[in-house]
Amino acid sequence: MTQKKRPTVLQAMARGLGGHCPACKEGRIFSRYLKVQPSCEACGHDLAQYPADDGPAYFTILLVGHLIVGPLFFFPVIWETSAWIMLPILMGSLTAAVLLILPRVKGAFIGLLYGLGIRERDSALHTAD
Ligand SMILES: [Zn+2]
Repeated sequence: MTQKKRPTVLQAMARGLGGHCPACKEGRIFSRYLKVQPSCEACGHDLAQYPADDGPAYFTILLVGHLIVGPLFFFPVIWETSAWIMLPILMGSLTAAVLLILPRVKGAFIGLLYGLGIRERDSALHTAD
């Protein structure tokens, strides 16, 4: 049996960002929108052991807030257009942005946890393989 080289932290994050298994890049991380598969369909790696918790939501809010909401205030159209028109447009587009970014951030976050060897039951017995 050939042993594949373990990916670096950035490689694991890039694989997760694309929705792929951080260990092999072949299988998918998610079975549904944000539901992490119990194990990789390609290599059998236990994907459910990474405690993503609120991290992906936090980083998604951080990204959307700093990269989209902050710069929006520099455009005068935001202030000159009626709030009755601008609020629904902004809320709809920001909701769509969050829904698009969140699974990618969660995948990258799981890749980060994989790369750093952080697992649900982190102990000396559960070292990265
Ligand atoms: Zn895999």
